[in-house]
Amino acid sequence: MATPDYSALITGQREYFLSGATRPASWRKAQLKALKAMFAENHDELCDALWKDLRRNVVDADTMDVAYNVREADYALKHLDSWITPERVRAPLVLQPGHVRVRHDPHGVTLIIGAWNEPFMLLFAPLVAALAGGNTAVLKPSELAVACSAAAAKLAPKYFDSRAVAVVEGAVPETSALLEEKWDFIFFTGSPEIGKIIHQAAAKNLTPCVLELGGKNPTIVHSSANLKTAANRIAYGRYLNAGQICTAPDHVLVWPEVKDAFLRQLGDSIRDFFGDDPKSSPDYGRVINARNFDRLVGLMKSGKVVVGGQSDAAERYIAPTVLVNVTEDSPIMNEEVFGPILPVLEIPSVDAAIQWINSRPTPLGLYVFAEDASIAERILDATRSGDAAVNDCTIHPMVPELPFGGAGNSGMGKYHGRWGFEAFTNARGVLYHSASIDPGVRYPPYSKHVFERKIQNKLLP
Ligand code: NAD
Repeated sequence: MATPDYSALITGQREYFLSGATRPASWRKAQLKALKAMFAENHDELCDALWKDLRRNVVDADTMDVAYNVREADYALKHLDSWITPERVRAPLVLQPGHVRVRHDPHGVTLIIGAWNEPFMLLFAPLVAALAGGNTAVLKPSELAVACSAAAAKLAPKYFDSRAVAVVEGAVPETSALLEEKWDFIFFTGSPEIGKIIHQAAAKNLTPCVLELGGKNPTIVHSSANLKTAANRIAYGRYLNAGQICTAPDHVLVWPEVKDAFLRQLGDSIRDFFGDDPKSSPDYGRVINARNFDRLVGLMKSGKVVVGGQSDAAERYIAPTVLVNVTEDSPIMNEEVFGPILPVLEIPSVDAAIQWINSRPTPLGLYVFAEDASIAERILDATRSGDAAVNDCTIHPMVPELPFGGAGNSGMGKYHGRWGFEAFTNARGVLYHSASIDPGVRYPPYSKHVFERKIQNKLLP
């Protein structure tokens, strides 16, 4: 098969960007409104695509992928005028008369590569930031969310000029061909493994990039925790989208004295949410494909099943499952679970929890359930993670004021709200200096102005 050639598409976007068309606030607002219209007018079709790919119910479809993007665009529309107004900062006395400003200028032509688990959010939330920043964008959906990729490719041309926003469908060959092109900015969501490929491709042209990656999110349940609430929120976070959420609790570390009570509560929460037969619950999703189904069924053998454990290959169904008797070296503890299986391990102390976290790759999310507030602060003070939540998990990306993104192995760069706008723009410092006064003191020969230079150095900030 011939290598796909995207040079004409990218040249078209570059010409459009360089024409200045994308810079005015009015253009940016029109694009954000188009994005909102795309999601509002095709709500049912987009939800249907999520149902086909992931058997996602409408409430979760809206929370994560459909209404979510409308909210993100609304937030950008509300704040755009203030974001794009250059910030005044103080000019040092020696540069007077003059003033200094920080402009937030677009990068230019950007590439956004998405993962399959939140197929619309991972393309269109970055797109909101790209458009608010005055960029053009090419979106590459994951080929694994087949219906969602097709829906994005079908609908985007109806709402956007392809010189501004285009969708390119495809898998590795198409993405590799896209990465051969020169971009001004790359935004990638996916696994740390592929993140490294993207980072290397970006390095060829020193292209800045944001990498939104995954990892194993530790979830600490302290002996002081409100166990019922902890169980509800952990079960919600782990089994939402059948566990296929980057911010889901990956494993629980619980104090031994409350382990049994926590496990009982967890079982109750799962039953309360999905009934005795989660397979027939309209609210419970499915695994994306056979490859992941087989991987997850294999991981279930890493411990003793205390809740769930059932599976059905024909439907790609795996019951909400809880495992105990899992050891640190078992397969499930050595890869991101990314499915509806939750290993619960004992941890004896705060120090042991800190040691656990610090001896592993930096996670995307870190969650602490404790009524004793000092426990969470001790853990936060001594560890690293992209983001964190106390007495909650998974849903912190819903707060538009919070930066969202990884650290270390879970990624680099942040987005959502103002943070996305900053990622998709260059903070360009500008000195406006009056030409009317030009004291010779700054110019050589320096020996002429020894005394004045001493004074000048005192005036520098
Ligand atoms: P993935 O890394 O396999 O794929 C992501 C994208 O990269 C897809 O569009 C895919 O087509 C492309 N790709 C795959 N192989 C490639 C290659 N060799 N060269 C170039 N491009 C390639 O990830 P996934 O399976 O789609 O998603 C799951 C991962 O994403 C998990 O690790 C999860 O935690 C992470 N994730 C992170 C976030 C976040 O915001 N941090 C959100 C969702 C998912």
